[in-house]
Amino acid sequence: SLSQRLARIVKTMRGEARLTETNTQEMLREIRIALLEADVALPVVRDFIAQVKEKALGQEVLQSLSPGQALVGIVHNALIDLIGGETAELDLASKPPAIILMAGLQGAGKTTTVGKIGKWLTENRRKKVLVVSCDVYRPAAIEQLRTVAGQAGVDFFPSQPDQKPTDIARAAVEWAKNHYHDVLIVDTAGRLGIDQAMMDEIRLLHDTLNPVETLFVVDAMQGQDAVNTAKAFSETLPLTGVVLTKLDGDSRGGAALSVKAITGKPIKFVGVGEKLTGLDVFHPDRMANRILGMGDIVALVEQAQANVDHEAAAELASKFKSGAGFDLNDFLAQISQMKKLGGLSSLMEKMPAEIQGKATAQDMDKAERDMRRMQGIIHAMTPAERHKPELIKAARKRRIATGAGVAVHEVNRLLNQFSQMQSVMKKMQKGGLAKMMRAMKG
Ligand code: GDP
Ligand code: MG
Repeated sequence: SLSQRLARIVKTMRGEARLTETNTQEMLREIRIALLEADVALPVVRDFIAQVKEKALGQEVLQSLSPGQALVGIVHNALIDLIGGETAELDLASKPPAIILMAGLQGAGKTTTVGKIGKWLTENRRKKVLVVSCDVYRPAAIEQLRTVAGQAGVDFFPSQPDQKPTDIARAAVEWAKNHYHDVLIVDTAGRLGIDQAMMDEIRLLHDTLNPVETLFVVDAMQGQDAVNTAKAFSETLPLTGVVLTKLDGDSRGGAALSVKAITGKPIKFVGVGEKLTGLDVFHPDRMANRILGMGDIVALVEQAQANVDHEAAAELASKFKSGAGFDLNDFLAQISQMKKLGGLSSLMEKMPAEIQGKATAQDMDKAERDMRRMQGIIHAMTPAERHKPELIKAARKRRIATGAGVAVHEVNRLLNQFSQMQSVMKKMQKGGLAKMMRAMKG
């Protein structure tokens, strides 16, 4: 697998302090092949590799990373940037009804997606939704939407196959206005391939409706072909977003990259099943993992990067050493830091044998659970209480226990543990901590 091949290359790249043309070559070749195998379009792959190279070459490698790991990190971040850094929401800020126009080839999943988005808006955004079909070419299409609307729990505006799509659209808008719908979703006809009559029709519909969202629906299984389709639709319509369907199939999702690169528009949703619940908001990082299939290595890199989160660690360490000023806020920070590094058990694995001692898996489990509970209790405290735990008397203890959903004696236990820890720290000799931190870095 790619993950294994990359892991091998990462190993052979060890010991160099800088990323160079030579030491990045082999890995970039693997990445290129992997992207093509994931069905990303060739011009998109070319641009991408060029971009990564530009970012990588000459870059110094952080001490705690190997050059190979550093490069994987760069590739992963560049991939997320290209797919679209953050999650994009639907824009429904318009005078109601906010109109959503669906565009895409036949079979892309438009009608299904109308139902999915309708259900999502109804249930998660408390919107009153009306849907209408302008697909007058296949009589079954209108009936299909009626069924889907029923399943989604949204209102359906009936249309007739002998009507003009623009007339249907106008009538639906009127109806939505008069019946106080927040959102009108307009389903349209697709063709099997790009065809001018279809493009003219959807353009006309767009001009008639002036929708706030024009979503391009595309099948992830389309692979390389997705590029041409995306190009044709984005040249015809001012798209506002993309819905990538059928990601529950075995497609690697390369279409996501191509479509984003061609249209420049964010992927707003992904379809992950035939059922109306099969809709997800889009997560660029998950998609990046899916496309390159290098989740394991990325996790490793992220862990290494968390390791160099040394500013916070250093500050903590100095407080730790003196024992002075170490309050529950620091304690909380320490717990989160530990979580970032993969939790207690993963830290323990890196400890020398004599420190690991006889801790069993059950011990570790229990310790992790305790840590989570402590975190919950500290979260329920005010900043002032965290800074001065001695403020916490009976009434405050009860309030904190209620807030954290635990019994009062657990709050007591935490406070005891904390004060023990403080006194241990005060006794701890200089250098003792540094030794422990070195051991933790492994
Ligand atoms: P339209 O022609 O663009 O309206 O496409 P449809 O909504 O009729 O969908 C075409 C086919 O794809 C139907 O069989 C749908 O059930 C199926 N489909 C749509 N979205 C998804 C999805 O996200 N996952 C899966 N597995 N099937 C989907
Ligand atoms: Mg349809």
